Formats: sequence, C-alpha cells, structure tokens
Amino acid sequence: MPRQLQQKRVGVVGASFIGLEVAASLRARGILVDVVAPESQPLERVMGAEVGFFIRRLHEAHGVTFHLGDAVSRVNGRTVTLTSGTAVDTDFLVLGVGVRPSLTLAEQAGLAIDRGIEVNEYLETSVAGIFAAGDAARWPDPHTGERIRVEHWVIAERQGQVAAKNILGRREKFDAVPFFWSQHYDVANQLRGPRREVGGYRDRWEPRCARLCRAYKKGGRALAVVTISRDLQSLQAEVAMEAEIRPQRQEVA
Ligand SMILES: Cc1cc2nc3c(=O)[nH]c(=O)nc-3n(C[C@H](O)[C@H](O)[C@H](O)COP(=O)(O)OP(=O)(O)OC[C@H]3O[C@@H](n4cnc5c(N)ncnc54)[C@H](O)[C@@H]3O)c2cc1C
Repeated sequence: MPRQLQQKRVGVVGASFIGLEVAASLRARGILVDVVAPESQPLERVMGAEVGFFIRRLHEAHGVTFHLGDAVSRVNGRTVTLTSGTAVDTDFLVLGVGVRPSLTLAEQAGLAIDRGIEVNEYLETSVAGIFAAGDAARWPDPHTGERIRVEHWVIAERQGQVAAKNILGRREKFDAVPFFWSQHYDVANQLRGPRREVGGYRDRWEPRCARLCRAYKKGGRALAVVTISRDLQSLQAEVAMEAEIRPQRQEVA
C-alpha cells in the first residue's frame, strides 16, 4: 500500500516520462494532480500525438487534470498562475522538464562536442584512446543513419559494456537499438529506436496489434516501434531491427 503523503494537491510541470510517472505515483496515493505542459498531447515529441492521446486518456481516467498548450508564468505561495491566466492551487511543484549532459570536463579535455560528446561507432571520442558512453555520448546510429544522443538506462549500460571492450582493444561497433520503458498505473509502454523527432518518420498503428503498437517508418523500414502492454511484440521488433543491420554478426567469446 503506497505511503500517504500530507499533501493533497501537487502541480507537475512537464508531460513527458518523468512528469507522467510522478503523476501516476501521486494518484496512487490519492493526491490531486495538475500537469502543465506546452505540448498539445503528453509525450508528443517522443512518441507522437496519437500515442500521447492514448496516454492522456489513461491519466485522465485516473483523475489527472491536464493544462496542455500552457506554461507556468508565476508561482506565488501555493498559487501557480499559468500563461493562459488559469490559477492552480498546489502544495508543491514537481519539475520534470528535461536534463542537459554535463560537458565541462570533456570540453576542457579538448574533445569534439556536438550537443553531447561526439563519438564514433566504437564509442571513441575525437581524441584517440578516450571513450564516452551513456547520456553524454552522441554516436552514429546505424539504424537511422543519424548521430543521436539518448538518455536511457539500458543504452548507457550497453554502451558502457562496448566501450569497456574497446578500451581493451576489441574494436566492437555499437549498433544496439535504443530501448526505453515507462510504467503508468498498470500500463507499460516501451520504445525501441530513437525518439520520434529524429528522422522524419511516417508513423502508423500496426494492424496486427491495432492501437497497441505504433511503428515509425522511413522508406518502408521500421526505425522505431512503440508498444503499449505488448512486451513480446516490442522485443520481436528490436530483434528484427537489429537483424537488418547485422545479419552475419558472430558473437566473439
Ligand atoms: C528522474 C529520472 C528518471 C529516469 N527514469 C528512467 C527510466 O525509467 N528508464 C530509463 O531507461 N532511463 C531513465 N532515466 C535515465 C537514466 O537514469 C540515464 O539514462 C542513465 O542514468 C544514464 O547513465 P550515465 O551513466 O550515462 O549517466 P548518469 O547516471 O547521469 O551518471 C553520470 C555520472 O557522472 C558523474 N559526473 C558528471 N560529471 C562529472 C565529472 N566532471 N567528473 C566526475 N564525475 C562526473 C555524475 O555525478 C554521475 O555520477 C531517468 C533519469 C532521471 C533523471
């Protein structure tokens, strides 16, 4: 049974993963939640408006109030005033508005920087012998053909493993499909591939699992797949995406 908090009403700024997971946890404790965000649908930038609408309805069914297309203009005591003029009462505010990588050390070391630390397919930076992995690294993604930087736990772990091997001289390319999961109430959604804003996709619901799998395609190839409570299909999509670029890959002991 979740612990009861003293607070009765909380404002959440940001309608992406952090803000919405916090909102779901607070609702499980019976706390009223107002979510404020500039997007027209939650998670829109990452997963598109249709998935965002699905997630929004899920949260609304659990009692969350959304203030979308809006932003905080002033906080005065327990009153938050939005740019629309709406006043929201809160006991406290949660800000889930994103993070930036800490690049000072890399800059001081003279590494090439491009909204992150630039690395090659071996996760080696512009300075030979220095490797970078995880949230701070921007790497050439062989699936999309673009250089991407991803803030996901599993990618950070997998990159750490590949970087460690390459420090030991293995020369292994990093070619894993980015993976992220997010839990809202009893609904888990998973993203395989980069965020939707990368790559100019056309995205559609996949007919075989209707409104529970959405594929982001370019030139007929799925570059990313979002699933809602369909873990098996999500794993199958990852295997298929990786097989496209590494059909002959041999695991070296
Ligand atoms: C609130 C929150 C919730 C999250 N939830 C999820 C989730 O559900 N699923 C998911 O996949 N991902 C999630 N993430 C993202 C996930 O935490 C990151 O992708 C992951 O931690 C990245 O690992 P990392 O090692 O690259 O960076 P970090 O975990 O940030 O570690 C970087 C380390 O480097 C240290 N450091 C920085 N600068 C220096 C310096 N100059 N010298 C020495 N040390 C330095 C930092 O102190 C830190 O210890 C979440 C992130 C946040 C903030």
